[in-house]
Amino acid sequence: MQRTIISVKNLQKNYGTFEAVKGISFDVFEGEIFGLLGPNGAGKSTTLEIIETLRDKTSGEVMVDGMNLDKEPGDIKKIIGVQLQASGFYPGLNLVELIQLFGGLYNRPVQPMELLKLVNLEDKAKSKYKELSGGQKQRFSIATTLINQPKIVFLDEPTTGLDPQARRNLWELIKSIRAKGTTVIITTHYMDEAEQLCDRIAILDEGKIIALASPDKLIDDLVATGFERPKQVKSANLEDVFIQLTGKEIREE
Ligand code: ADP
Ligand code: MG
Repeated sequence: MQRTIISVKNLQKNYGTFEAVKGISFDVFEGEIFGLLGPNGAGKSTTLEIIETLRDKTSGEVMVDGMNLDKEPGDIKKIIGVQLQASGFYPGLNLVELIQLFGGLYNRPVQPMELLKLVNLEDKAKSKYKELSGGQKQRFSIATTLINQPKIVFLDEPTTGLDPQARRNLWELIKSIRAKGTTVIITTHYMDEAEQLCDRIAILDEGKIIALASPDKLIDDLVATGFERPKQVKSANLEDVFIQLTGKEIREE
């Protein structure tokens, strides 16, 4: 029996007269990777930021690990990890110093090298954030979400703009976070990624949830309607070619 760790009921968010989120309800189970998919402007980031306590909602009820968002936002903050925007990283500090700084903000003892090892960045311990490649920056920002040993990690488009190797590398990292029992909520525009990573996904469109199930179930449901994909004539695709030719290892620019 799976335990619900996030419960969202009739969540609404208006920006002025514009209804960005139109009364959505969903549960996230403890220990799963839950994907929030949908076109740009669907309301994914708005929904995440409300749960993360970073944005006010218009109405509805949100519970996070048994705590009510309206009553205990401070306690919710303590058990979640949120990916920071790049602007949050002081340019003059190296990775170890940045982790120590965040540890101080969270009032937590931190082991910077252990955290860097987890995201495969030990070699870059003395580098500054701005000196990292795109994939390294993403891995570092994921490392910072783990500083307070959260129960839930929120990742908003963590792989956007990355090359295929860096993307696969991040998939492994995200799976390893789940393997430790941490719940992960992720948004992505890559359907192969959602299929690979997510236990369940919600598809959001114009502020409404139009589907919610495991990727497998959603595909089966579509097939059951009689939908048939044009047959694949080749047993590999261009991404396979790219990975075969350039290798699976992550590259550092
Ligand atoms: P997504 O992350 O799915 O792309 P967002 O949650 O960022 O979508 O945005 C949902 C809708 O709300 C979009 O139409 C966007 O333009 C609008 N929106 C987002 N933030 C604001 C804001 N601060 N003020 C006004 N409108 C906003
Ligand atoms: Mg967004």
